[in-house]
Amino acid sequence: MSGSQTIHYPQDEVHTFLLPVTVSCSYNACAFCSMYAGEKFSPVNLSDIESELKHGDTYTERVFLTGADPLQIGFEKMNLLLDLIHLYLPYCGCVASYASIRSISQYSAEELSILHKKGLWDLYIGFETGSDEVLKLMNKGHTVSDAISQAKKLNEADLSFNTIVIYGIGGQGRSVENAVATAEMIMQFRTRRVITMNLTVFPGTKLKEMVESGDFIAAPNRERLIEVKTLLENLDPTTPTVFDTTHPTNILKIKGMLPQDKERLLAEVRKRLH
Ligand code: SF4
Repeated sequence: MSGSQTIHYPQDEVHTFLLPVTVSCSYNACAFCSMYAGEKFSPVNLSDIESELKHGDTYTERVFLTGADPLQIGFEKMNLLLDLIHLYLPYCGCVASYASIRSISQYSAEELSILHKKGLWDLYIGFETGSDEVLKLMNKGHTVSDAISQAKKLNEADLSFNTIVIYGIGGQGRSVENAVATAEMIMQFRTRRVITMNLTVFPGTKLKEMVESGDFIAAPNRERLIEVKTLLENLDPTTPTVFDTTHPTNILKIKGMLPQDKERLLAEVRKRLH
């Protein structure tokens, strides 16, 4: 594949072997996103993927599949892809990837379970918010009910995932309501980690146009911090869940395990609010 395409990956995967599986985003319509603006979506051929793997370090233990949504390629190709990874990188114990609620919906729980047994886990999924109104405003392409049912399907398949949410996404005056709705959504399923991002208005996005036309008023930082606090206050997971605000966009960078670190994390947010 040509080296000219943009490659995005989570900050925690910076030292991971990156394997291109798709180019750009097949959806490319979220109002806040400029990651793949103007880039055409295409899947990478299996023969090109195999060539990349042949040049990989045999002792690689973790692989991150790149592209906005590699699971778009479907079960058969994912299955073959995981076989190739294990053929060329026999020590690889974990294949991580971005995924969307839309792409997961193409798979049955049985198929997800098969992929999980072949090493696929640690998906990074943009849930963004638990508010249908805000999902619609941001043209996210899924509903809260879709998100919950796909997350439950991943739980059924034992395939672990990171839940990415964005604070400030509802705009000024909606932070508390958005945080409560997001926590309510997350409490419906098990997730390995809740990763927060702070809404950023990027040039060239629909969101930027909405800001310029006055249709969207960005929440001030204090309100955004109150949103983080409200989200934390309303999260009471019954299984260990990392709460992680260390992505560079965040106003406050904290990380801990819920439920045991909840009070410490809340104290850190309250301290910043005073
Ligand atoms: S947020 Fe994800 S799904 Fe939405 S346009 Fe950007 S890359 Fe595509």
